[in-house]
Amino acid sequence: MTSPLESPDAQKRPLPTTLARRVRFLREELGITPRKFGELCILPEKAIEDIEAGIETFLAPSIRVRMARILRVKPEVLKEVERRPPLYQPVAGVTADWEASFQKAVLENPDRAYYCPNCGEKLNVRVFDRWTLEGVPVVSLKVRCSGCLFRSNLEKM
Ligand SMILES: [Zn+2]
Repeated sequence: MTSPLESPDAQKRPLPTTLARRVRFLREELGITPRKFGELCILPEKAIEDIEAGIETFLAPSIRVRMARILRVKPEVLKEVERRPPLYQPVAGVTADWEASFQKAVLENPDRAYYCPNCGEKLNVRVFDRWTLEGVPVVSLKVRCSGCLFRSNLEKM
């Protein structure tokens, strides 16, 4: 008898080598929609779509464990293909000066439109407050270009 949580088949098969394709592959094996998968993982459908589109490339530990349980694999099977984006991904036009002035502008005026220094398309900018493990408040900016691969995570203490 095998545990449904650790299907031996799921561990042995060659699996897709990116988190996006692997999650989608395992979900489709179960025959469930992204919406249903989201419900089972207690995540919005959008979060599942972002993962399967390769927009989110790593998972919070609690989410990884929930997703792995539903997908009937060990959490390591997801973790091994996760990619943590670098804090700063160098692309043409992005300099330390640009980052500093961009960060300042966004914090002063988060609602206006900002454009990519690399390709000129509109940037998706999310600003959120969080706390470090030491309890220090931090403002984080998550920046993603709608036209190219430019991404940036900026933090201001
Ligand atoms: Zn761009």
